[in-house]
Amino acid sequence: CGIVAYIGNKQAFPIIISGLKRLEYRGYDSAGIALFNEGVKVYKCKGKVSDLEVHTTGEDVSGTLGIGHTRWATHGEPNDVNAHPHTSQRGYVTLIHNGIIENYGELRRKLERRGYEFKSETDTEVLVNLIEYIYLKGDVSCEIAVRLALSKVIGAFGLAIIFNEDPDLLIGARRGSPLVIGVGNKEYFLASDATPIIEHTNSVIFMNDDDVAVIRRGELTLKTIDNNLLEPEIQTIDLDI
Ligand code: GLU
Repeated sequence: CGIVAYIGNKQAFPIIISGLKRLEYRGYDSAGIALFNEGVKVYKCKGKVSDLEVHTTGEDVSGTLGIGHTRWATHGEPNDVNAHPHTSQRGYVTLIHNGIIENYGELRRKLERRGYEFKSETDTEVLVNLIEYIYLKGDVSCEIAVRLALSKVIGAFGLAIIFNEDPDLLIGARRGSPLVIGVGNKEYFLASDATPIIEHTNSVIFMNDDDVAVIRRGELTLKTIDNNLLEPEIQTIDLDI
């Protein structure tokens, strides 16, 4: 349903929480956040963004890389386990997902035959485990694992993905679900619409279907799922009336 992600020099948690609140108008049943701070930490629960704030009270929510989500359940009831972010079985990949993976049943059975066990009832968990499977089995980079996994997926997705082994990498991708990149000063935002971004920057890139944004701290590479480099088209949102 709603996506907000941040990589830069500032603390990600307050930026993501206030961004998720700006997306509340879309409706949702659960909220969650993953932060990179000496590894990926995930906090999520059924309910409102304010419930997530209560849930994280007293926790260490520091980190300058993070992804946040509000979920509108399509596969699996609204509960704490089915809430996003989802982490792969061996902990290498964590992601949030808008949309529906239509061939998740077939992919799930294939992964189960290779030893994967699933914690949630979501279509999303299939994708995060598929990325991890390809990453480990193929011994490829995080980016290649994401692009190969997405080439095997049928359905709609807006995604923000982080990796336990890489504190400086945020990957976004979309097909059928909107995703916008905010370009700040040595910082980048990802969001399902521009609403959470415009309080931070008015420079945005509207991603197209099958685009992948590979964001290394302070540096964006935009390409297609099949690895064609794209020239990012930065637009300025003019809020003057
Ligand atoms: N299909 C996913 C789920 O049910 C994502 C739903 C959404 O877009 O929020 O968890």
